[in-house]
Amino acid sequence: MDHFPTGRASFAPPPDAALELWRHVTELLEDERERVPDRSVTPPVDVPALRAAVAGYDFGAPVRAETAVDEVAALLRTGTVHTTHPGYFGLFNPTPTHLGVVGDALTAAFNPQLAAWSHAPAAAEIEAHLLRFLGGRLGYPAGSVAGSFTSGGAEANLTAVLLALTRTWPEYGTEGLRALPGRPVLYASAESHLAWLKIAHGTGIGRDAVRLVPTGPSLKLDPAALAARIEADRAAGDLPFLVVATAGTTGAGVIDPLPELADLCADLGLRFHVDAAYGGAAALSDRLRPALAGIERADSITVDAHKWLSVPMGAGALLTTDAEGLAETFRVTTSYMPADVHGTVDPYTTSQQWSRRFTGLKLFLSLAVAGRDGYAEQIDHDADLADALRAGLSDAGWDVVNDTPLPVVCFADPANPAWEHHAALARTVVEGGGAWISPVKLAGRAALRACVISHRTTPAHIDALIQTVNAARGQST
Ligand SMILES: *Cc1c(COP(=O)(O)O)cnc(C)c1O
Repeated sequence: MDHFPTGRASFAPPPDAALELWRHVTELLEDERERVPDRSVTPPVDVPALRAAVAGYDFGAPVRAETAVDEVAALLRTGTVHTTHPGYFGLFNPTPTHLGVVGDALTAAFNPQLAAWSHAPAAAEIEAHLLRFLGGRLGYPAGSVAGSFTSGGAEANLTAVLLALTRTWPEYGTEGLRALPGRPVLYASAESHLAWLKIAHGTGIGRDAVRLVPTGPSLKLDPAALAARIEADRAAGDLPFLVVATAGTTGAGVIDPLPELADLCADLGLRFHVDAAYGGAAALSDRLRPALAGIERADSITVDAHKWLSVPMGAGALLTTDAEGLAETFRVTTSYMPADVHGTVDPYTTSQQWSRRFTGLKLFLSLAVAGRDGYAEQIDHDADLADALRAGLSDAGWDVVNDTPLPVVCFADPANPAWEHHAALARTVVEGGGAWISPVKLAGRAALRACVISHRTTPAHIDALIQTVNAARGQST
């Protein structure tokens, strides 16, 4: 690769040099894919060595392309929790689909600007088609689906709050919160994803406006407790406007009672959002879709493609049947943006983002090649593996403490309920290098959490995990 140029010429290498570098990169990636299962999921980090290696790049004398790629790959190899490892039972971070990686490469190379439809008609239409497909699987009526791809679930949830505020109080958009006759408050379960606090901070409603309703041992948002809290807040002069149900909580994968919550919102005149960042993928499986019943009644839904739909980060989506509200929330016109094209929607007018990358392609290619059935098969397979894990853990004397059809298994040692004990067990497992699990506190109770999220995980990895946690427990007594 001696003829791959450095300096300014590296921006635009000659074709043969570019191809040679591509070959080098693809071989490296395939080699990684083959070797990751034999590596430690969590390589120990030597922080001074890592910082020194990075600081070695002072951007003075140019480095050869192959050298730079190899050195960065070595840093990533030793300085990453390998979420692509079949023993990674972690926090919804998937092993990406192969087509997802290819999609991200195509996206980077074509670099379509997804602000204005007229700059990226193909990308905009592909994303709109995907949103209609996802919306359809979630049960939104054909022809009613609007939304946008986002950086992830947090941005999608932010969008849901902005939309709900805008629809509930039309004056919010122009005059701001001070035009409101009181303090807006929103509701989610204590098990919800705490992005709500950052969103409340950023939108100006304030963190205290997030009512985290305690769940009790079911870990589900209790409609009766919620109704009581709403009534008390209204009596105190606050302004309830939004209820958030979580379909697949981050800690325990639990699905809130969606039909009852939808009824309650309809009765009380509140907006209803479902955060299905993780669990929304279940809509692709005919077997698991019934667990999401009621989601179609939500004013808006968050789904992350970079979780159980297994595309590379970052890819989230906000779906809604309220196209008009979304357009009102993000409306803007400028002289410098290209004029809109009749019959199309400019993505920057339905999104918090302005310039935006082509987020949807990695999902489009993955779906096109796997097919919906291929996704359903993988999702059902993950659910089966989790069932096997639950059974094996119960047989070995662990208490499985969460109730969900989704592949998140939370389990506690009945002999020692202490948080420290469970945290130490997780540490022992992680330090062993063969698996990654985490400690979690669910309604105050300490547990270990294992989520089947890698499509590379097999029954043998489930058996190995059971043996590993049993051995850790054995050592600790
Ligand atoms: C992961 C997650 C989020 C946040 O999504 P990001 O993609 O990390 O921004 C929100 N809600 C739930 C339920 C999640 O699991």
